[in-house]
Parts: sequence; structure tokens; C-alpha cells
Amino acid sequence: MDFRFSAEEEAFRARLRGWIERTTAEVFGRGDAIGASTASLLDVGDDSKWERLKEYHRRLYEAGYAALHWPKEYGGGGATLIEQAIYQDEVLSFGLPLYGCNQLAIDRIGPTLIFMGTQAQKDRYLPKMLTGEEIWCQGYSEPNAGSDLAGLQTRAVLDGDSFVVNGQKVWTSLAHRADWQVLLVRTDPEAPKHKGISYLLVDMKSPGITIRPLVQITGEAGFNEVFYDNVRVPKENLVGELNQGWQVSIATLMYERVSGGTRHPVERTINELIALSKQIEFDGMTANRHPYVRQKLSQFAIEARCLRLSRYRSLTAQLRGKIPGPESSFGKLFATELNLRVAMFADELLGSYSALDKGSFGAVEGGRWTQRALAARGLTIAAGSSEIQHNIIGERVLKLPKG
Ligand SMILES: Cc1cc2nc3c(=O)[nH]c(=O)nc-3n(C[C@H](O)[C@H](O)[C@H](O)COP(=O)(O)OP(=O)(O)OC[C@H]3O[C@@H](n4cnc5c(N)ncnc54)[C@H](O)[C@@H]3O)c2cc1C
Repeated sequence: MDFRFSAEEEAFRARLRGWIERTTAEVFGRGDAIGASTASLLDVGDDSKWERLKEYHRRLYEAGYAALHWPKEYGGGGATLIEQAIYQDEVLSFGLPLYGCNQLAIDRIGPTLIFMGTQAQKDRYLPKMLTGEEIWCQGYSEPNAGSDLAGLQTRAVLDGDSFVVNGQKVWTSLAHRADWQVLLVRTDPEAPKHKGISYLLVDMKSPGITIRPLVQITGEAGFNEVFYDNVRVPKENLVGELNQGWQVSIATLMYERVSGGTRHPVERTINELIALSKQIEFDGMTANRHPYVRQKLSQFAIEARCLRLSRYRSLTAQLRGKIPGPESSFGKLFATELNLRVAMFADELLGSYSALDKGSFGAVEGGRWTQRALAARGLTIAAGSSEIQHNIIGERVLKLPKG
């Protein structure tokens, strides 16, 4: 296989890189500030970070980069596999989010609507996902339904032209910023649990919705509890058939797991760790000269390269119009576990300094390594925990018997 890029592809990369350099400098600030600010941009509890991220999204859209992987007929870039791979590599190398401020809409909800929505739903929702005018969140998990998602209890009852929703969701990322939500509800409590679920599009400003932010161990409030008290949702906001929402939700989850494998800028983090190892002492010598540290860093770099190559493989399937299958669990599992090991190793290198968080006197690089270590575990849980990904790979890829 020839991994070299053509002259046109190199020109695309150069244009994109120039655009990112200019835009990040203008929106987020110059030099180290770019890395430092963008690394934590997904912590959207802070209003000023959120406004900058929205501004970045606006520019992404105007430049035609907001959804390179969507077909042109829906306002996307209709990019080739290679352009898409170049886009991901470049954006991640800057530590930027792949899809601006509307990650959930562009990486998973929009593609689900393109695949399974009605024409009216596509016309109504897709354009404002792209522009970032309408932000989306995903209401799946409940206090007693996470890994066992099909056990969800939030009820929706059809009453005339609308569903009436009652219940509670939890861990809903971005609910406090969102205009719209995809919501999984139980519409037939008598049916077997996977069969009585429906998939609704819900206006987050509807009367009866209450949102309570949850503060994470990092100190940010990125996700929420959401309560529904007789919330009316028009019947035309049902995606797919009534009681067939499980299939729709699985499509969204597969897109989510693909992006879960791509969205972590782990190669950039490893490069930053290499830079850090030149600055600090470990076991009586500069860390980057220590054999143990060198072995670890090389191993991380090899794994990150394998991850990049397997990302290209997932992209191939998507660009051929297929819904990603169980192989998307590989990327999600591998990327988030690698990210966790890198963060833990940074802690080991920093020794007692790793206890100093942002805002503390003496915190190394503003405490960003500590923040990363605190956030890394959550990423192995979001979008299906590592244990669940292992189960999926065991049963659906390796065909092992059910545990
Ligand atoms: C950062 C973050 C963002 C999130 N954002 C959203 C969001 O926007 N929308 C949303 O709906 N949800 C969101 N979630 C919730 C996430 O999907 C759930 O936390 C996840 O599915 C796990 O469910 P749970 O927390 O209920 O844990 P549980 O399902 O109770 O699991 C507890 C433990 O048991 C293990 N376990 C459970 N079942 C099995 C099994 N069969 N085999 C082996 N081990 C098992 C799990 O791996 C885990 O270690 C988010 C979570 C995080 C951390």
C-alpha cells in the first residue's frame, strides 16, 4: 500500500493547516496559549471558553470544514477518505475538537438523521447543526440504565398529536448549552425491553424540562441531570418507527464510538509529554535520557500510530456509506485506554507535583497534566465503558459465547 499523499492532497493539507494556524491564533490567542486553551475547551462549563468555541465553529462552517464527511447534498463537504483523514490528523495535532461546538450533532446525530430520518427532519435540523446555531445533546443514560441502556424507564405516551414524556436522564453532556436533544424513551412497557423503545427529537426549551448541572472531579460542570415532567413532543419528532428506536439508537452509538476513537488528540499529548520529559528530572537524570522513560514514550508513540492507521480503516467504511459496525469498539477502547495510560505516566513522571492542580502555586504547565489525569478515566466510561467494549468485541467480532 502506498501511504504517500498526492500533490492535491498535500495542497489541501497546507491550506487547512494555514487556516487552523490563523484561526486558532485569532480566536484562542497565540503561541502556548493555543495549546493550553484548546486542550481544555471541551470543559464547557466556562462561558468565555464556550463563546470562543462557538466563534471557532462559525469560522469552521464559513470555511467549509464543519462537516467534511457529510454528503454534499446535506451541506457537508463530501470529502474523500484521504481528505477526511488529513482533516482529522491536522485538527487533532492542534488539540482542537473535530467538530467545533456541535460535536454530538455533527459526528453522530446528523449522520443518524441522514441515514434514518424523514426528509422533513433532514430539511429542518441538518442546516442548523452545521452552522452551530442549534446545539444538540444526547439523552440516553438514566440512574438505573447505563451499560444496560435497554433497561431505560423514561416513559412517553402518545396523546393526540404529541408524546407526553415523564422521567429522568443523567450524565447528559452539554444539556445546559443545548437547544435540542435526541431522547430515548419507553413507549411500550409491555414489550421485551429492546422492543418498546422510541427515539425522539426534543426541544430543550419545552415546558416541563429541568436541567441540573453535575460538577466533575476536574471542577468543571460539563454534564447534567435532566428531568421531564409532562413534556409534550410533537409526533413528527419520532425518528424511525414507533417502538423501533433501539435500532436508531445503535446507529448513533456506532457513530459515537467511531468518533470516540478519533477525537482524542493522543498523539499531540504524547508529543507534549516528550517535550515535558526534556524539562524535568527523573531518578537523578533528565527524564528523556532515562531508559525506562524512553521505553514508555516509544511504546506510546507506536500505539498512537497504530490507532491512526485503524482510524483510516473505519473512515473507509463510513465513506462507503456503511454504518460503522462493532469494529468501532476497537478504536474507542484503544484510544481511551491509551489516553489514560499516557495521563497516568505523566503523573508518575511528575511525582508529587502531579498533586498540584490548576490554580495551585508550583503546578507544572498550569496543572494541565493533573486535569488530564482526572478527566481521562471518564473517557473510558463515556459512550460505553471499556468492559462493555470488551464484551462487544468478544461476542460480535471474536464470536465468543455470551458471558
Ligand atoms: C464524560 C462522560 C460523558 C457522558 N455523556 C453522556 C451523554 O451525553 N449522554 C448520555 O446519555 N450518557 C452520557 N454518559 C453516561 C455513560 O454513557 C454511562 O456512564 C456509561 O454507559 C456507563 O453507565 P453507568 O455509569 O450507569 O455505569 P454502570 O452501567 O452501572 O456500570 C458500572 C460498572 O460496571 C461495569 N459493567 C456493567 N455492565 C457490565 C457487563 N455486562 N460486563 C462487564 N462489566 C460491566 C461497567 O463497565 C462499570 O465499570 C457520559 C459519561 C461520561 C463519563
